[in-house]
Formats: sequence, structure tokens, C-alpha cells
Amino acid sequence: TTRSLDGTVVAITGASAGIGAASVYSLVDAGARVAVSARREDRLAKIVSDLGEDKVVPVVGDVRDPGLNDALVKAAVDKWGRLDTMVANAGIGAYGGILDLDDDTLTEMVETNYLGTVWSVRSAVKQFRAQDGGGDIIVVSSVAGFRGGADEAVYAGTKHAQVGLAGSLDRELRAEGIRVTLICPAGTATEFAIGAGRTEGSPDLDAYLRPEDVAHTIRVVLEQPRSVRTTVWQLWSTEQQ
Ligand code: NDP
Repeated sequence: TTRSLDGTVVAITGASAGIGAASVYSLVDAGARVAVSARREDRLAKIVSDLGEDKVVPVVGDVRDPGLNDALVKAAVDKWGRLDTMVANAGIGAYGGILDLDDDTLTEMVETNYLGTVWSVRSAVKQFRAQDGGGDIIVVSSVAGFRGGADEAVYAGTKHAQVGLAGSLDRELRAEGIRVTLICPAGTATEFAIGAGRTEGSPDLDAYLRPEDVAHTIRVVLEQPRSVRTTVWQLWSTEQQ
């Protein structure tokens, strides 16, 4: 049987665009209340105006800041009294040969994709323990979390790091009723994919997953009854070679 998400309280990082934004719309449609974070205030404000202040609360800031992640959880708890789910989704991708990316870009990628995930997961676990226990953590990694590729060594490294983090936390936290699930999409048609050198409307991008496909999978994961842990999902477009 499917678990209802009506009234569940979710926090999503990187919610201003792409997979994160699509997840907000999908989960609110399923009855959830969502606290959202990202740096672009105008994008978050648009989501709030689309869905309503009773359904969405925005927290503007940088996921690399541990305090931002605590503030995101606090916003959910202040407004709705608890937190049921953290979706650690914020991420960036810079592609290029190992000598081609500058130090600042590499550092930003590691800090955003890996440390940002650590901070958001940690903020959620603190809150799960402070309430009646249990909860869901969704980590948006990638198929690059399982196989590397030319010109994506450091990006794939951050995605592998998320896989190691989530797999370990699944073992560490399952006895508390905390489920940790990895969502690992292949190419998805977002600003991220466009920024990675593909142009909008190209055959390549048309063959990609849609952000709504990934959002739907996150919803399906959360709708599993509490007696089921699904742990790892890989998603591929049937069109993509
Ligand atoms: P988008 O670029 O569309 O969205 C990325 C989101 O992350 C934005 O909301 C952005 O918000 C946020 N973000 C980035 N850096 C920071 C930061 N320092 N602080 C706070 N928020 C930040 O990308 P996607 O939706 O495609 O990516 C989401 C996740 O999916 C990433 O982890 C990515 O690695 C993963 N993924 C993507 C794939 C793809 O092909 N698109 C494939 C596999 C995995 P803002 O800029 O407003 O801060």
C-alpha cells in the first residue's frame, strides 16, 4: 500500500531550479509542506507565489554554510512543527580535463556537492532525533556516483562521495527508523545540463530525462510504506545513448 504524503513536512536544498524545483511542485501536489533553500531569492519567491505561503517557506542562502541548513530545518519546524524528510539536492557540475578546471571551481564543486550534502543531512538528523525519531533522507547523486568518465573526474568524485555517505548512513541510522535513499539520475534536461556544454533544443538534450521524471521518483520513494527501504535508484532515459 502507498503511504500518503498529505501533511508531511519536507526540506529541499537547491529548490530554485531543475530537479529541486520540480520536486517542490510534485510533493506539494501530493499534499506535502515544503521548506526550500537556494541562493536565488527571486526564483524561490516565484515558487512561493505559485503554491502559496501555507505550502512553501523559502530560506535564501548558500548550502556550503552549515548554518543555512540548520535555518532551513528551523523554518520548517517553526511553521509546521516537525520535519519528516530532507532532500539533499543542491549541486553544480563543471566539466573539463583534470588540468583544465581552476582551483576555485574545483573547490566550489567539492564544497557544494559533498560538504553541502553533509551539512543538510546533519541538520535533518539533529531534528529527527529531537522529535519522535524516524524520517527520510533523499540524496540526489548521479549515475556518475557509480562510474566515472573523461572530463568529469572531480564531479564524479563528489557524486561517489555522496554514495559513500548515504550507504554508510543507511547502516548507521536504519535502527532509528531513518531511511536514506540515493536518487541517481543520468542526464536530465536542466540549466545544469545546458551549462555543461549542451545547448537547449539539441537532440542530445531532448533525449534526456525531464526534471519532473526525477521528481516523480522521489515522490514514489517517499510513498513507500515505512516498512520498506529502497536505498538506491538509478534513472536513465530510454532515449539516451
Ligand atoms: P540546476 O542547475 O537546475 O539546479 C541546481 C540547484 O542547486 C539550484 O536550485 C541552485 O540554486 C542550487 N545550488 C547550486 N549551488 C548552490 C549553493 N552553493 N548554495 C545553494 N544552492 C545551490 O541542476 P539540476 O537540477 O540538474 O541538479 C540538481 C542535482 O541533480 C545536482 O546535485 C546534480 O549533481 C544532480 N544531477 C543532475 C543531472 C543532470 O544531468 N542535470 C544528472 C545527475 C544528477 P541557486 O543557484 O539559486 O543557489
